[in-house]
Amino acid sequence: MELLKNKILTDGIVNDEEVLKVDNFLNHQIDVTLLNEIGKEFKRRFSDVKVDKILTVESSGIAIAVIAAQYFDNVPVVFAKKQESRNLDPEIYKSKVYSFTKNKEYEIMVSKRYISKGEKVLIMDDFLAKGGAALGMIDVIEQAGAELVGVGIVIEKSYQDGSAILEEKGVRVESLARIESLKDKTIRFK
Ligand code: 5GP
Repeated sequence: MELLKNKILTDGIVNDEEVLKVDNFLNHQIDVTLLNEIGKEFKRRFSDVKVDKILTVESSGIAIAVIAAQYFDNVPVVFAKKQESRNLDPEIYKSKVYSFTKNKEYEIMVSKRYISKGEKVLIMDDFLAKGGAALGMIDVIEQAGAELVGVGIVIEKSYQDGSAILEEKGVRVESLARIESLKDKTIRFK
């Protein structure tokens, strides 16, 4: 997606070879016009599948999924929670996720009320790196007996393991920008 790639080139900051900072338009301040275009592009790419629900993980995935959902007939968006809370139902699906950006393991939790057997679920997230977040959400979908229809990613760092792991599992991944390398603080697309 050219618009997104240009935005990454103008506003993205490479901290080191592993992490791209895009908090000027995606992870802290949000460019709503760009997010709208991202939502439309996800719909274009997944126009061949039925989607009952979009699943993402808090917090950066929420804005992306909510804007995109409007192009998928306003299907509900469910976001996996990372924090235990008294507001969370006792009946939940849980999965362990390793975050390499935070260098720690955490749990994602989804109430059993919000993903049901047989539902067709599309996963969305801001980044695909080593695949931990996507694999955790896939685990939740499997526990629920729902059906994964695909994974929509805004920025894939193709040089990390995630895309290969998902491909090996036969998961359909649509990434709007694919980064081949961040070496020498230079962003190179695939
Ligand atoms: P994974 O679970 O695939 O290893 O990493 C995906 C998650 O880690 C995303 O939800 C995202 O929040 C975070 N993440 C991974 N790589 C980056 C990165 O380069 N920049 C930012 N801003 N977040 C990242």
